[in-house]
Amino acid sequence: MGSKIVVNNYGSFDVTMAYGKGSTCYDVNGKKYIDFLAGIAVNCLGHDFKPLVDAVSKQAEKQIHVCNYFTSDTGVEFAEKLLKATDFEGVYFGNSGGEANEAAFKLARKYGFLNGGEKRRVIYTLESSFHGRTLATLTATGQEKFHPPYFAPYVQGFKTIKPNDWEAIKTSFDDTTAALMIECVQGEGGVNLIDPKWAQAAAQAARKAGAIVMADEVQTGFGRTGSLLASDELGFEPEVVSFAKGVAGGLPMGGILFRGKANGVFKAGDHQSTFAGNPLACAAGLVVLNELQKPGFLEGVKEKGEYIRSQIKSWKNKNVGEVRGKGLMIGADIVEGLSAVEVEKKLLENGLLTSTAGKNTLRLVPPLNISQSEIDEGLEILRKTLETF
Ligand SMILES: *Cc1c(COP(=O)(O)O)cnc(C)c1O
Repeated sequence: MGSKIVVNNYGSFDVTMAYGKGSTCYDVNGKKYIDFLAGIAVNCLGHDFKPLVDAVSKQAEKQIHVCNYFTSDTGVEFAEKLLKATDFEGVYFGNSGGEANEAAFKLARKYGFLNGGEKRRVIYTLESSFHGRTLATLTATGQEKFHPPYFAPYVQGFKTIKPNDWEAIKTSFDDTTAALMIECVQGEGGVNLIDPKWAQAAAQAARKAGAIVMADEVQTGFGRTGSLLASDELGFEPEVVSFAKGVAGGLPMGGILFRGKANGVFKAGDHQSTFAGNPLACAAGLVVLNELQKPGFLEGVKEKGEYIRSQIKSWKNKNVGEVRGKGLMIGADIVEGLSAVEVEKKLLENGLLTSTAGKNTLRLVPPLNISQSEIDEGLEILRKTLETF
C-alpha cells in the first residue's frame, strides 16, 4: 500500500510497518516479524528501548534543533563522551553515512592539497566496497553495478585496490595518493571480511607514500562487530573514521572522527550542514554509547553472533554455502540456482526480517540487544524456510 505513494526507489516490499517491541516488529495488519534486519543495522537497541525513548522525548521538550552558529549542551556532551570512548581528537557530526563519507573525502582532498599540492588528489577505496549513494560516494563505491552510464560523469580522483591482495599494496600508492579508505567489513558487498594483517600493511604503505588512512565504519561502527569500532580490531589505526547507521539507535545521524594528521585540517567554513549535530540525535547517541560501554555488552554481541553462525552451520542445509561475519554482522551465502532475494521474500512471508547483499548472500544484522528467545524464534523461521526450497 505505502509503496504506491512514497517514491519506490527501494523496490520496497508491500508491507507497512506500524510499531515494534524489543526486536520484534508488527505491520498495520498486526502481523509479527522477528527482526534480523534492524532497519539495515540502524535500530541497534531494538524498537522501544525505554532509556532511548525517554532521552529523545526529554530532549524534544527541551530543544529540537540548534543551528550550528552555536553548539548545544547535548551535542557537546555527546562529542566529549564519544572522543573519550574512541580515543579520537575531533568529531564532525552529519546526518547520514553518505554525508559522513563526503566529509571524509573533503578532508582527505584538503589534506592531500596541503601536503602535496595539485598532484596529491587520489582517494583509494577497496574493490567490492560500498560507500553511499551521493555522486562522490557512488564513485568511491568499488562495484561496477553502482556506476550506470546515466549518472555519469562521475567524480574524478578515485581508484580502487583489491582487498587482501598483497601485490597491489606494493604498486598502488604514490605521491598522488591523498588517502586510503577501508570499509572494515564489507556490508553491501556481501559481508566480506578484511584480513587484519593486510589492512595494517596497506595502511602502512599508504602512510609511507604520504597519505592518510580512513575507515568507513558506517555499518561496522558502534558495536555491530562486537567492538566499539571495528578498525580497533583490525588494528590499522585510521586517522579518520566515518560512522552513521547505528550511532543514534534509529535517529538520523552520521559523522567523522579524526585524529593525528587529520586533526586540524578542517577550518571554519570548510564543511557544514544545517541539520548536523541535531540535539535529538545527540541525545539518542548518548544512550547508545552508554549501553555499549556497559560491562559485557560488546562481549554479548560477539557471543550472539557466534551462536547464530554456528546454529546455521549446524543445519548443513543444502541451500546455504559459506556462513561468515563478525559480531552481529552475518552473511550466509545462498547456493547457485536459488536467489537470496527469493529466500528473503519467503522469510518475510514467514515473519522474519532479513536483507541480501553482494552476489547472493543473505545478510543478518539484528539489534545488538536482541533477546535469546527472539534469536531462537528467528532461527527457527530461518531453518524451516530454508527447508522449503
Ligand atoms: C549504509 C552505508 C553507507 C551509506 O549510508 P547512508 O546513511 O545510506 O547514506 C556508507 N557506507 C557503508 C559502509 C554503509 O553500510
